[in-house]
Amino acid sequence: MIKHLFSATLSLFLMVSLLTSIHAQDSDIKMYVTTSGELQLDQGWLTAMTNVGTMIDIPVPMYIIDHPRGLVVFDTGMSVDVVPDNGAEYWGPVSQAFIPSMTRDQGIDERLQQIGKSVSDVKYVIHSHFHLDHAGNIAMFPNATHIVRKAELKNAWWPEQFQRAAYVLDDYMETRNFNFIELTEDMDLFGDGAIELIDTKGHTQGHQSLIVRLPNTGTVILAADAAYMPENLQGTIPGIVWNVQEAMEAIERMKLIRDRENGEIWLGHSMEQFQQRRLLPEYYD
Ligand SMILES: [Zn+2]
Repeated sequence: MIKHLFSATLSLFLMVSLLTSIHAQDSDIKMYVTTSGELQLDQGWLTAMTNVGTMIDIPVPMYIIDHPRGLVVFDTGMSVDVVPDNGAEYWGPVSQAFIPSMTRDQGIDERLQQIGKSVSDVKYVIHSHFHLDHAGNIAMFPNATHIVRKAELKNAWWPEQFQRAAYVLDDYMETRNFNFIELTEDMDLFGDGAIELIDTKGHTQGHQSLIVRLPNTGTVILAADAAYMPENLQGTIPGIVWNVQEAMEAIERMKLIRDRENGEIWLGHSMEQFQQRRLLPEYYD
């Protein structure tokens, strides 16, 4: 009898502690939303044949996800080297088409510090793609594991002529010996469905987006440049694309996931949407 009671108590204890640990893991995921500054550009770069000639300011989002199994950064924004002169020297002529405005405290390193972390705490840096407003500070993370599509890595080093302007080779010139996971398929980062990398090629040859599943917030699809603006979800072709067909299929894919999971698509460069976000140091869980 005592033995039975003991084993029943033990199994109850195990069950409770198991449940507590699962619960603790879930609720411990925090997603921070922030920006590395703004870009001013002609809206026609984002919505082909729509509002061409209208200059707009757009955010340059970055995301920090604090998961029990590691700190994750999704995109590192614009290089801090654009800060002194709005990119005139570091970016060169492209800084006249995409005009950056950024302060030093908007760099990803300082954003991490603003939540008590440092670049060396980051386990994974996930890159949507290597354009100048997304992978600008990759060199700050020599000890992290970098996750990028194999196709993106190859094409960032030797882009098609018509896509070359948006790649700044100096952003990643020193990173060849970094630890890269070169994806050729989708990946569930921690095996728990919380962070899933999906193929959204089209904007570039190796673009990827991130599905983040949070216990309270639900499913959020971080589109990055697979969909910049609300118009892109309504059928307006994105202005900068490597392959229109692939780009439009990627948008449909994200919409399917959104609808299936009753989630949201968080657009890559929509100021209207971004202004509704809870920003770092606040977070989504
Ligand atoms: Zn972008």
